[in-house]
Amino acid sequence: MLKKITLRFYEELNDFLPSSKRKKRFEHSFIDRTSVKDMTESFGVPHTEVDLILVNGNSVDFSYLVNDGDDISVYPMFESLDITDLQHLRAKPLRKPKFILDVHLGTLAKYMRMLGFDTLYQNNYEDEEIVKISLKEKRTILTKGRGILKRSEARHGHWIRSSTTMDQLIEVIKRFDLKEQTKELSRCLLCNSLLKIIAKEKVIGRLPRKIKELQNKFYYCENCDKIFWKGSHYTKMKGIIEKIMLL
Ligand SMILES: [Zn+2]
Repeated sequence: MLKKITLRFYEELNDFLPSSKRKKRFEHSFIDRTSVKDMTESFGVPHTEVDLILVNGNSVDFSYLVNDGDDISVYPMFESLDITDLQHLRAKPLRKPKFILDVHLGTLAKYMRMLGFDTLYQNNYEDEEIVKISLKEKRTILTKGRGILKRSEARHGHWIRSSTTMDQLIEVIKRFDLKEQTKELSRCLLCNSLLKIIAKEKVIGRLPRKIKELQNKFYYCENCDKIFWKGSHYTKMKGIIEKIMLL
């Protein structure tokens, strides 16, 4: 039997929809028995982006089977609206923000490490591996593709909308409320390890002449055997932080 329902997606969930379905209630017809999770994903909205689904005004979980005549509202994570009495679909936010990025977000990974965020990235990660690591290490997946977030095992994730790295960074900081959690020059840009402060005399033999004259504080990655200082990377990062603080 052909079933008819109405649907509406709220706020940033509209980013996933074709323009004809954005920010309004629309009708949809279907035949097969479908869970509300599969229904929302059939419109391109990954379940990891959804926090609350109301069917005819009542909150339901992802396994709810859609009935003829249902009126469905789909909401993203709420920032401030009090919906504590309703059933949330997302797992609780991860307390210490840790991330794993897909293969398209290498530059973002470096920027995030510059700001001290625990960020895993490898340009040869398979989607399956990313999901596995995110579950094991309780990391939020950041991705440019939507496929990875539609995997049923994926728990925490965010689809990056912005295209420039700077905008992506701002998007992540806003979405996960990270403004107060930056810790600059604390992580290696190359491998994500925590950096140690190292005495100048221990590294002086390895420094370019100009750096020897200008810099006095050095940071060391044991894993990469690399030395960092407040050079051009740092100036760039400071600029980024200041821009973010103005948001
Ligand atoms: Zn390193």
